[in-house]
Formats: sequence, C-alpha cells, structure tokens
Amino acid sequence: EQLSNQIAAGEVIERPASVVKELAENALDAQATQIDINVVDAGLSKITISDNGQGIPKTQVALAFLPHTTSKITSRDDLFRVHSLGFRGEALASIAAVAKVTMLTATESGLGTQIDLAGGQVLAQKSQTSRQGTFISVNDLFYNTPARLKYVKSVSTELAHIADIVNRLALAHPQTAWTFANNGNILLKTSGSGDLLRTITEIYSISIGRQMLPLKGHDLDFQINGFVSLPKLTRASRNYVSLFINGRYVKNAALTKALIAGYGSKLMVGRYPLAIINLQMDPFLVDVNVHPTKQEVRLSKEDALGQLLTTSVLNTLQPQNL
Ligand code: ADP
Ligand code: MG
Repeated sequence: EQLSNQIAAGEVIERPASVVKELAENALDAQATQIDINVVDAGLSKITISDNGQGIPKTQVALAFLPHTTSKITSRDDLFRVHSLGFRGEALASIAAVAKVTMLTATESGLGTQIDLAGGQVLAQKSQTSRQGTFISVNDLFYNTPARLKYVKSVSTELAHIADIVNRLALAHPQTAWTFANNGNILLKTSGSGDLLRTITEIYSISIGRQMLPLKGHDLDFQINGFVSLPKLTRASRNYVSLFINGRYVKNAALTKALIAGYGSKLMVGRYPLAIINLQMDPFLVDVNVHPTKQEVRLSKEDALGQLLTTSVLNTLQPQNL
C-alpha cells in the first residue's frame, strides 16, 4: 500500500510546485475567497497554504488522505462532466506519502480538527480550535524518497516553477485574493476584485496592464474572454500565454498556434504575446482525465475553437484598437 502510494505520488507530485498546485486547487474547490501560500526555500523545507473555504468535517479528515477518496465525484458518469479542479482523490494521499504533513481544518469557526501524518501514516488526530477553512503544512518534501529528491533542481528553478503556477492560478481566479511569499518575501498579492485586468496589473505591472486589449468571442459551443497584449509587447517564451478551460490552466499547442495566427505578421518569429484567455464550454466537450496532473486535456471540436480564437484575436487587433 505504502509503496503504491509512493509510486502514484511520483506521477502527481514531481516537485514543490506540484504540491502548491494541488493544495491551491483544493482551496478553490472549497470555495475559498482568500488563499495564502508561504514557502520556505522554494518549498523544499516547507509549504503552507491557508484558505477560508468550506473546511473538512471531522469524520472526513483522515479519509481525505486515503488514496482515491474524493468528495467531488460520486459516479463514473461524473468523470465526463467535471466541474471541480480536483476529482481523482490522489493529491492529499500522494503528498502525505512523500512528506510530513499537518492539517488544521474546520467547517465553521470554533472546534476543528488537526491531523499529523508522515510517510503516509497518520501520527495523531485531535480536536483543535480553528477559524473556518483549512491550513495545511507540508514539510521535508521527498524526505523518504531520495530518488525523487535527486530530480529536484535548484532553489531558484523550483521557485520559478511555483511562481509560474501561482501566477496562473491567480489569473484564472481573479475573484480570489491571493498572497504568495518565499522566505517571508511577498512575491504576489492580488486583491480578489474579480477584475481580470486589475489582476493582470497586480501580477505584472501597471504599464503592462495598459498594453493589454480585451479579447472576446463566442459561438454556440464556446465563450472566449480575456486579454491579449499589443503586438509590440512580446515575450521570448510561450510561458506568457495562459489558456484556461473552465477555470483550469491547460497546455494546448494547437490553441496556442491559433492564438499566434491571429497576430499574423504582427509578431516577430519566435516571439509570443502576453495572453490570458478564458475558454468556457460545456464540460462534456473536455476530457480532463488524460493525465494525472490534469494539464493536458482532450477537446472535442478543437479545430472550431481554434478558428474562433484566431478570429477573436484578429477582431481585437483591428487597426483602430492599436
Ligand atoms: P480531490 O481534490 O481530487 O478530490 P484530494 O486528495 O486533493 O482529492 O482531496 C481529497 C478530499 O479532501 C477532497 O475531495 C475534499 O473533500 C477534501 N479537501 C482537500 N483539501 C481541502 C480544502 N482545502 N478544503 C476543503 N476540503 C478539502
Ligand atoms: Mg485535489
């Protein structure tokens, strides 16, 4: 059991950034409006996340750390209409298998539950005063899996990966107020205003915010909403393109290409715009159950969506808007 958990953990939890992603997604699924992320040494020593979401009832706390337990899906059919960010019920079990974990959670302010685990084993559980929400602390990641630890890169690389994920989560969820700090230095703070352009300004800068144009488009299946940069604001990395499908960050080469196509000859070769694009569609059109990290998705009607995206960018970049 413990071994199979460690193997599963390797698929979902590759590095500190994977822990941050899974825990932050849990906070979002719990309807948190404030999410605070603190890491020490890029998460290699410590990762804490606190949220003001629904919390976990006392009877469910230990269960939440068992593999394949999720409160988000009850039938096989649900797999084909996933609305929550999590659904595999693997994250907490995987994290607890490869780290020392403490969670304090309460469904309302007052008496909550504290649980301590290490290497997948529950060490202690007790009642404990708490405000509503969940606080989780993940310590000494990969302490019991030296092979995995070897794959972890430098502190600066790991920090860059975390920052990348937190930026994207904050962009995908502007209605949530986010903070992110490493060794006590605040690296990101958003107000949770719900306004995407304001969030872009808070994450990047006011001057970048001024160089973004609104992007809109829709047909019977898809709704596109977001911001793309003026052609002159280009970046050398495609990392500045963020595509979200129903609130989930996805990597999709075909859609990225469709976006670039909308710029035509306005972009130099090898340059990318800054783009934050929300794609809304019936969950039935998206299969997220392709890869454990849920970043790769399979889309029905991908070509039609690509064409709509190209057209929307073309419309946004009409000469009168530039
Ligand atoms: P999944 O998100 O795929 O359901 P996880 O292992 O990430 O699986 O979490 C297991 C369960 O623990 C969730 O289904 C949820 O019920 C509960 N949970 C985890 N984190 C939180 C949180 N921050 N707030 C409330 N409930 C949580
Ligand atoms: Mg989850």
